[in-house]
Amino acid sequence: MTKVAFIGLGRMGHGMAGRYLDAGFEVAVWNRSKAKAEDLIARGARWAASPADAAQGADAVVTMVADDAASRAVWLGSDGAASAMKAGTLAIECSTVSYQHALDLAGDLRARDLSYIDCPVTGLPDAAAGGRLTLLVGAEPADLERARPFLVPLSATIRHFGAVGSGTVYKLINNLMGAIQIAGIAEGLAIAEQAGLDMKLVLEAVETGVAASPQVIRHSKRMVARNFEGATFTSALRHKDAAYAVALAESLLSGAPLMGRAAVEAYARAKAFAPDDDEARMIEIVSRPK
Ligand code: NAP
Repeated sequence: MTKVAFIGLGRMGHGMAGRYLDAGFEVAVWNRSKAKAEDLIARGARWAASPADAAQGADAVVTMVADDAASRAVWLGSDGAASAMKAGTLAIECSTVSYQHALDLAGDLRARDLSYIDCPVTGLPDAAAGGRLTLLVGAEPADLERARPFLVPLSATIRHFGAVGSGTVYKLINNLMGAIQIAGIAEGLAIAEQAGLDMKLVLEAVETGVAASPQVIRHSKRMVARNFEGATFTSALRHKDAAYAVALAESLLSGAPLMGRAAVEAYARAKAFAPDDDEARMIEIVSRPK
């Protein structure tokens, strides 16, 4: 049976690990806190004592953790997965990390004869649990072909952008554009509220007008209703992604990113206010009246 190690069982990783069980893989799981693994263990996953233990004998190791620091710890820490992987094993990083981290990690893993796939994702936790993610891949074509059997259970669409790191470049611009848009929606709606407009009419006009987008449709009603239940993407994660994107922009562009820096500042405030709450609470940051 094909063996996969899955590391990081948060909102996204938990559902992704479950997809491998559904597809009949032999699955070893590790998470910093074991409680999130209990139902996967009941469904047949092997609980591993460390990322290295999970990686023992695996054909591929897949990770879905918060950020660069978490990624470094689970791959390269003292009990990290890389220490136990046999030469040629696939290392598939699905977390949203910085571009520099993706390149550095790929270099470290390649030096150990491991094949690194840059594979951040778009899609919310329900898409992760349902195998409907879009995978944003940066990889050597031959590595992608070897990795495909491990990607198919997770995804509806696989987009191959080019060499290692290119999937992360796309993911970061996608989430920076999202950060700018969501902060913009919050600001526009807050102005309309303070000016005393009929918000039912405003919502109808916004959602059917030229400013509409999937982000606008997803967030505007919830912002006006101040309904932030069931956080899927948090202010802390949005701030992290925007900051990684701005660091990349600063290495490539002169005079930019004007909007990106504003979004990072806005999300730094939202993160200070409620880091683990839904990112749409941005409207509470910008809507304080004079
Ligand atoms: P989450 O629910 O906060 O889960 C974060 C995971 O990282 C948990 O498993 C957590 O372990 C682990 N972690 C954090 N710090 C760690 C450390 N120092 N060492 C080891 N493990 C550590 O986040 P998520 O929503 O699943 O997001 C995971 C990744 O997917 C992020 O990179 C995010 O940007 C990306 N993403 C998220 C979405 C979304 O809609 N949520 C969509 C696309 C991409 P514990 O359980 O022990 O805390």
